[in-house]
Amino acid sequence: MTNRELFERAKKLMPGGVSSPVRAFKAVGGEPIIATKGEGSRIWDVEGKEYIDFLMSWGPLILGHSHPRVVRALEEQAKKGLSYGITNPHEITLAELVISAMPSVEMVRFVSSGTEATMSAIRLARGYTGRKYIVKFEGCYHGHYDGLLVSAGSGVATLGIPGTPGVPEEIANLTIVLPYNDVDALKEAFERYGQDIACVIVEPVAGNMGTVLPKDGFLQALREITRQYSSLLIFDEVITNFRVSKGGAQELYSVEPDLTCMGKVLGGGMPLGAYGGKREIMEKVAPEGPVYQAGTLSGNPMAMVAGIATLSELFEKNPYEYLDEITQTLCEGISKILKDKGIPHTINRVASMLTVFFTDQEVYDYRTAKSSDLGLFAKFFRALLKEGVLIPPSQFEAWFLSTAHTKEDIEEALNRIERAVSLI
Ligand SMILES: *Cc1c(COP(=O)(O)O)cnc(C)c1O
Repeated sequence: MTNRELFERAKKLMPGGVSSPVRAFKAVGGEPIIATKGEGSRIWDVEGKEYIDFLMSWGPLILGHSHPRVVRALEEQAKKGLSYGITNPHEITLAELVISAMPSVEMVRFVSSGTEATMSAIRLARGYTGRKYIVKFEGCYHGHYDGLLVSAGSGVATLGIPGTPGVPEEIANLTIVLPYNDVDALKEAFERYGQDIACVIVEPVAGNMGTVLPKDGFLQALREITRQYSSLLIFDEVITNFRVSKGGAQELYSVEPDLTCMGKVLGGGMPLGAYGGKREIMEKVAPEGPVYQAGTLSGNPMAMVAGIATLSELFEKNPYEYLDEITQTLCEGISKILKDKGIPHTINRVASMLTVFFTDQEVYDYRTAKSSDLGLFAKFFRALLKEGVLIPPSQFEAWFLSTAHTKEDIEEALNRIERAVSLI
């Protein structure tokens, strides 16, 4: 069985042969790989080829593939039932863990994906404020909810889709899109529409136009202006929760949003999302309040025990310093390799997430991210894949490291990257 044979079959059965667009490797050309096994820091394709994995399922696997503690928890729970449709004790345990770690979260509602979390948080913000407009930032991706697909990052950026058919103009018009890190544009928008803005949603560290850090004062400005106009501030921490620090970006940058969207690391590889925030706002969610939101598999015990095992391991071992150290080593190594070859690049990094942009410009928003040489990125990606290093198949995504990546893995990855770069 080869990657190609399977993908040919897949294309006849599923749009683009995939269940999520960027997996088709369209932006980088060539055939996508089909994965059959993941273990620790490695992933294998159907042809038996092994890769050092820096995709890490797009972020959830902060403990690496199939961490024994997570697997054990799932095995034990599977014998006791996969879903009850009735509240189970694990929901309470996980809620306690989340609330203990995330500074601004006082109550939480579990859902099954990041998209569901942002969609529900927006509904809640509108229900709570009685206002219609939402503000988002160019290049930020918040899942595929209609009103959030306007000028979105991730696959929308990768495929160069400006908006998307299927989202009515009337809905798109309720979304105000501003450049990331631009406080003046923010002030201007609020001066014009402030009284009608329900919320501002932002990735406090952007990961979906590639890794882009908030400039000093940007998140604080968001906090101040939303407070001034009684709009809600929503941090979409689906990538950053339990990733950039135990308490997410809100802890790292000491800015407390009103609502927080969670996912990815939260579920440790199982489909899980959540939204939470101030009690006064969360009390508006049904059945306590009038804002409806529900889910057949929400809070299901399999996702809960995977989340509990992942967060418990993180909180007990506190590996953030280690992750920071190995990620820094990787970035420095890559930078040296590219510099020696005279390849212009900018590496953005926070904790264990990073992006290598093929531009010599500073990258601080979507426009500067787009100054990257996408042809060169595609070559780099394919050369890495050939040498056995898997990174996200797009310039506009983040690489992720995990506690399963050893120092030897980083050294080996740098050797492979050096060989790959010598071929491009
Ligand atoms: C991945 C992601 C989402 C969407 O989560 P899904 O689980 O893919 O629906 C939302 N926001 C951000 C910041 C993300 O990175």
